[in-house]
Amino acid sequence: MPGETITVLSQASAYICRNRNGAEEGRISEHAFGNAVDIAGFALKSGKTVTIRPADKEPTLNGAFQRAITEAACLYFTTVLDPGSDAAHQNHLHLDVKARRGGYRYCW
Ligand SMILES: [Zn+2]
Repeated sequence: MPGETITVLSQASAYICRNRNGAEEGRISEHAFGNAVDIAGFALKSGKTVTIRPADKEPTLNGAFQRAITEAACLYFTTVLDPGSDAAHQNHLHLDVKARRGGYRYCW
């Protein structure tokens, strides 16, 4: 992974009019405002792929890569949800730009 170049982001979802986590009731998802994107994985220049999956405690290069991109994403997005956040995000990263009071960021 060190020295690799990401060539493709595998997008799992973008604009879709729905509530958070697809629930019938509750708050409207940032996806419904066009403010969110879900990333399911990455393709690298070498031909390797990285698929987002539960890896919070995985002592591998893929686990370290996933933790690093999740932390780095919080520099750019105000909400970052990964497989460790809840059951609805086991196979992708949710990234959105929801504005919150005081510039608060919600990154898990
Ligand atoms: Zn999402």
